[in-house]
Amino acid sequence: MVKAPRRSRAFPAESEDFETDSYVHGQTLPASYDEDAYTQWFCAFLRSDLPSLTAGQQLGMRADLWRFVHPEIVTRTWSEGEYLPPVAILGDLQKVARDGIDAVRSGKWFSLERGIGYGIALFGDRLIRGSPTGSLEDQFRAVVMDTLQANWTRLAACPQCREMFLKLGKQKYCSPKCASRARSETFKARRKERDHHHEYVRRIQKKTGVKLKINPRGTK
Ligand SMILES: [Zn+2]
Repeated sequence: MVKAPRRSRAFPAESEDFETDSYVHGQTLPASYDEDAYTQWFCAFLRSDLPSLTAGQQLGMRADLWRFVHPEIVTRTWSEGEYLPPVAILGDLQKVARDGIDAVRSGKWFSLERGIGYGIALFGDRLIRGSPTGSLEDQFRAVVMDTLQANWTRLAACPQCREMFLKLGKQKYCSPKCASRARSETFKARRKERDHHHEYVRRIQKKTGVKLKINPRGTK
């Protein structure tokens, strides 16, 4: 069991000098908790095609994942001296969350496998609870459950790719990519319809020998 470094040291982004650097490495989560931003990040993490990420994007995602889980004490499973979870773990965690969501959707339980330990200690004259300890996977599960529970009614399936996203305002698709794909498909479908019309007119022309004027759709 290794204690994670204090956040101020662990995250250079909290020091202004390094703010730009953390963006270069692809980190996107704000340092202070924001429910919408964290939930959106979680949905984007689920949709990510991890093998196609660049080394810089992977580093950013590892840092974002650490920030999303905000573990205090993690029972380590990866190499010493490296506090960020290795890239191979991102795929495992993505699967953990996807399987959990599928379980919930099919009426089953999404649960903690081993659980999270905690302790109590004196803080002035009060007893406080803290020091949560557990594997990164279990701490991740716990945060994912909190995220799903708090936002379930705001989580929608993208009509284009079927992936989950946080529906904010009139947003219809998970990403600008899906929105533009949907737009271009509608455009193609409309063009196809117009071609059918053109073919129809040509068929009549051929059959009757009468030259018809082709009116583009929507005009007279
Ligand atoms: Zn989509």
